[in-house]
Amino acid sequence: MKPAPFELSQPGTLDDARGLLAAGDADCRIIAGGQSLGPMLNLRLARPDRLVALSALPGLTECRETESHVEIGAAVTHARIEDGDCPEPIPGMLRHVAAGIAYRAVRNRGTIGGSLCHADPAADWVTAMTALGATLLISGEAGTRREVPMRDFMQGAYRTALKPGEILTTVRIPRYSAGARWGYYKICRKVGEFADAISAFVADPETRVCRVVFGSTGGAPLERPALARQLAETGAAAPLDEIKKDLLAAQSDLSPVKLQQMAIAHQRSVQEALSHD
Ligand SMILES: Cc1cc2nc3c(=O)[nH]c(=O)nc-3n(C[C@H](O)[C@H](O)[C@H](O)COP(=O)(O)OP(=O)(O)OC[C@H]3O[C@@H](n4cnc5c(N)ncnc54)[C@H](O)[C@@H]3O)c2cc1C
Repeated sequence: MKPAPFELSQPGTLDDARGLLAAGDADCRIIAGGQSLGPMLNLRLARPDRLVALSALPGLTECRETESHVEIGAAVTHARIEDGDCPEPIPGMLRHVAAGIAYRAVRNRGTIGGSLCHADPAADWVTAMTALGATLLISGEAGTRREVPMRDFMQGAYRTALKPGEILTTVRIPRYSAGARWGYYKICRKVGEFADAISAFVADPETRVCRVVFGSTGGAPLERPALARQLAETGAAAPLDEIKKDLLAAQSDLSPVKLQQMAIAHQRSVQEALSHD
């Protein structure tokens, strides 16, 4: 099927992009890599009058680093992250996550910002960025800016804290110390597919940060502090039964199969972390 007719605008500055979104004379929609929006247009699940493309906005296609943070522009593609074009806040994690998304043709176009804003529960970045404690920088009407922690950004399946007309500009990730460890394990039927279960953790003994997060839960990623404490104190994942009990306490509608997949993903994320040295 073909999309319903629309106009395509390619603004050269963030102000122009915001102006187009705020104009109010048309149903406007942002397009980044088009890897999620494209199929929705083709199926006519979305029928905007105008698409505002972000791919030519300089600030959104850059990666920056400071002593304390790494900043990734929202329009940076998965492929650039896979290729090591962005600094790592903890060695190897971003490249590992990016390389496991879909296949190269999707990664060449799909962007980190598009993935976060689309908020598919089975997507990779929503879980990875929650584990990394990222903050999202958002630009709104008349140049207003606000910052939203990743754990508050995704509010459910395909629901985010974005307000109409707002643009996600930057993903800011804190840097971790040299002794920090990470794990990321994705269970899917075939390499390159969306996940059946994801478990991610980041543990930094220097700053005493430890987060254990589960993805592909049907909604927003699930952070599990008790499992993080167990990991920080013992250096090992909890036994399968304890992981399942903890997950069920957080989300009672998880099926036995899903629980098993998530518990196994957590154990493997911890086992595989030992091989990152
Ligand atoms: C075959 C296939 C397999 C895939 N497998 C995986 C997978 O295994 N794991 C995974 O994580 N993903 C997967 N994806 C999704 C892929 O990662 C997409 O790139 C991503 O979901 C959307 O990114 P995009 O840049 O293409 O966004 P688009 O499709 O352009 O936009 C998606 C949505 O976000 C909005 N948006 C985009 N950018 C911004 C912004 N900066 N500010 C505000 N709103 C914005 C758009 O308006 C739209 O609503 C797959 C996709 C395909 C087609």
